[in-house]
Amino acid sequence: MSALPRSVTLLSASRLLRIEWDDDSASALPHALLRARCRCAFCTKAARAGAPPEDCSEVALTEAHAMAGTGLNLVFSDGHRRGIYPWAYLRELGALSEAGDVAS
Ligand SMILES: [Zn+2]
Repeated sequence: MSALPRSVTLLSASRLLRIEWDDDSASALPHALLRARCRCAFCTKAARAGAPPEDCSEVALTEAHAMAGTGLNLVFSDGHRRGIYPWAYLRELGALSEAGDVAS
C-alpha cells in the first residue's frame, strides 16, 4: 500500500492533477478537491475552530513541487501554498475521487 509516484502531471485545462503510481494505477485529482482537503496547520486549525468550508470550486492548482520521499507541496491560485500532501494521502484522495464520494 506504499506505492510511489512514477510521474506527476499538472493538467490546467481539465483542472486535474494526474499521478501515475509505480504499481500501474493512476489517480486524477480535481484541483478544488485538493484545495478543500488541505491538511496544513492553518487549514486544520480553521476546520477545528468550526470555520465553514471555503468555496474552492474556482481554485486552480498552479504549481506542484515534489518533496523528496515525502509527497507534494501544492500551490493554488488563491495564494495558498502551505499544504504538504503525503503520497499516501494523495492516493487516498484519488480513491475517494474515483468512487465519486467527494463532498468538498
Ligand atoms: Zn492549507
